[in-house]
Amino acid sequence: MLCEQGAKLVLLATGKCARRCCYCPLSASKRGRDVFYANERRIDGVEQAIEEAELMDALGTGITGGDPLSNTDRTVESIKALKYRFGRSHHIHLYTSTTDARKIERAARAGLDEIRFHPPTSMWKDLEDSPFAKAVKDAKRFEMDTGLELPVMPGREDGLIRAIAFADELELDFVNLNELEFSETNWRPLRALGFDTKDDVSSGVKGSEELALDLLRLDADVPLHYCSSAFKDGVQLRRRIARRARNVRRPHEVLTRDGTFIKGVVETPLVAATAAYIMHRFAVPGRLLWSDPVKKRLEVAPWILEEIASELDSPSYIVEEYPTADRLEVERTPLRRR
Ligand code: SF4
Repeated sequence: MLCEQGAKLVLLATGKCARRCCYCPLSASKRGRDVFYANERRIDGVEQAIEEAELMDALGTGITGGDPLSNTDRTVESIKALKYRFGRSHHIHLYTSTTDARKIERAARAGLDEIRFHPPTSMWKDLEDSPFAKAVKDAKRFEMDTGLELPVMPGREDGLIRAIAFADELELDFVNLNELEFSETNWRPLRALGFDTKDDVSSGVKGSEELALDLLRLDADVPLHYCSSAFKDGVQLRRRIARRARNVRRPHEVLTRDGTFIKGVVETPLVAATAAYIMHRFAVPGRLLWSDPVKKRLEVAPWILEEIASELDSPSYIVEEYPTADRLEVERTPLRRR
């Protein structure tokens, strides 16, 4: 699957959503805001989404939110543009908790391949009498792959079993069971409900995985898929980042097996003067330097900075970063200076 390969662009079409799920993991900077992101990059328009898809050689796109159909115009425009640029084989799926037939139809006509409905927990036991019964039929009428996306909440076993039975009855294409996870924004409500992490290193909720594995043993015709938090973060995310790394690496950056970059960093407000000094004094080719006046730093090939740091006045480091648009720093090690 393309998700497993990390081959799908993650397009957050908007942070807006009409639901208020207690377990919503969306970060505070996105929740309730009409923001637009392609992977980790905040963007202004669909052209930048296409750029980001090109940088990671994306074979498909997952449109997420919030609820992408809370901004149907942007979502429809994105689907059309991605299909136009990458062709019909560029597989696009979308998560929604909307049941609005008109919105579903617009997404389908734009070229959406797959729709993953995310009904609120309060409806799980009676989905056949909820607006989702019609919504999934509408989606299937447009020949989209149609399924349910369910967070596996310990203590909600009955609702989950009934939701899976509903999917079975309506011959949906899949049910995705996701391990419930703590995030920076949902930990307080989840803790208030009595949930705990399953161990010290995982953000997964205790009991969620066990319940998911039990559910996978149900005698259902609908295909059941389980996605653990470790798989999502440890495998999918790493693979997606590694795809981008190959295309955005600069000559002074060393690509690690994990898909991160190692580089030397000299912190200085005098970026241009320091670059000129290093090139002249140590005969370093310009392509092994990168000026970043915004962060007030000069990046240098790490194998060079290790040799020359003790001869510089400014603080120097070996830094490991993700190759994402925000270049999130993972680790920094100071180098000795004079
Ligand atoms: S439907 Fe999704 S985005 Fe909306 S509140 Fe629930 S978890 Fe958050």
